[in-house]
Amino acid sequence: MRCRFAPSPTGYLHVGSARTALFNWLFARHHGATFVLRIEDTDASRNQPELVTNILDSLRWLGLDWDEGPFYQSERAERHNEVVEGLLADGRAYVDDGAVRLRVADEGTVGWDDVIRGRVSFERANIEDFVIRRSDGSPLFLLTNVVDDWDMGITHVIRGEDMINNMPKQLLLLEALGVDREVHYAHLPLLVDEQRRKLSKRFGDVAIESYRDRGFVAPAMTNYLATLGWGTADGVEIRPLAEIVERFELAAVNKSSAFFDVKKLTHFNHEYIRAMAPGEFSALAGPFAAPYDLAALPAGYLADIQGRTQTFPELAPMIDWLFLEQPPIDDESWAKGVAGNPAAAAILDGTLAAYAECDWVKDELHQRLAAVGEASGLKLGKAQAPVRVAVTGRSVGPPLFDGLEVLGRERTLARLRAARARL
Ligand code: GLU
Repeated sequence: MRCRFAPSPTGYLHVGSARTALFNWLFARHHGATFVLRIEDTDASRNQPELVTNILDSLRWLGLDWDEGPFYQSERAERHNEVVEGLLADGRAYVDDGAVRLRVADEGTVGWDDVIRGRVSFERANIEDFVIRRSDGSPLFLLTNVVDDWDMGITHVIRGEDMINNMPKQLLLLEALGVDREVHYAHLPLLVDEQRRKLSKRFGDVAIESYRDRGFVAPAMTNYLATLGWGTADGVEIRPLAEIVERFELAAVNKSSAFFDVKKLTHFNHEYIRAMAPGEFSALAGPFAAPYDLAALPAGYLADIQGRTQTFPELAPMIDWLFLEQPPIDDESWAKGVAGNPAAAAILDGTLAAYAECDWVKDELHQRLAAVGEASGLKLGKAQAPVRVAVTGRSVGPPLFDGLEVLGRERTLARLRAARARL
């Protein structure tokens, strides 16, 4: 069995295209079939190597390795022309205004049993004699696509449902060419946004490269893409790729459109980041955290930060205050947590006194601040706010006392004093 992923060069790998590639790959790995990669670059404006580089890089990043190719359709022009000439010689096609058209009989239907959608058929009477080679001599995509699948011995065509409208013409071509081989067609449901509209074309919304650059990890992305139109009866969605390969069935793919939900993808990402070994986390997250050095943080603290990270760009703002001499104080956090808090002065003074000589360990720091709060009639959550803002510059962040322990007494007290003076 042979399947193929046949992207047109677009300069990036669209998430919908990536899902198509993944389902081909899953099919191939599940059945031990051959996965062929073919670049459909017959359109002269697309025949540029730099439009392919990102696509190949993203497939590699996702871990979707191919067994044959990449083959370039543009290198097969001679073969495509030979096929057109053959159809002309047989009288199956004719020249009309310089373009070559295929003759279509106007009786009966043309159809196929789609693996996902069941029987689909079209009336021949509704299909006009259609162009297979333009007057400038270039063959149409629907011809090159069908000829290449034929020559490459493709047995399973797994692709997006936007190709369904090309199907009747492609089947008529195969018929005219006398090709009589069994091919299974599976047209995958469209990906849509939350309003169930076709996904936007904005690079940031749909390019795999953009998600990679925004701190999504490949296994989370691959796992998430696998859930778009496919699932198992047990409803478990987050599982290792090897298990997905084992369970994947093309016939179980849904025909209704699938919502590409970035929130859900982010949840998958969080789960994958949480489950990483510390070394892997540091290696992948390190570049995003720069210039702050993750290796400088105690292992326990870093593990806690890892558990909170949904996507890597969240890291730097969580830890910058541990590295900066005096972190900038966010205006809104200052206004809410300090300036607008009547107890702030008492809390800051109390904490300065309570922290001056105590053991510098998180439990002690915790208890002492709780006691300072109680003296002002405040619960810990409220009492913590001015201290957090003074020390970290923000009103939200990872657990405070663990961080204070890392920051050390001197820097903590200096920041508390600075905030008190500003107040
Ligand atoms: N080259 C087409 C595309 O990128 C896909 C054609 C196919 O899979 O048959 O949309």
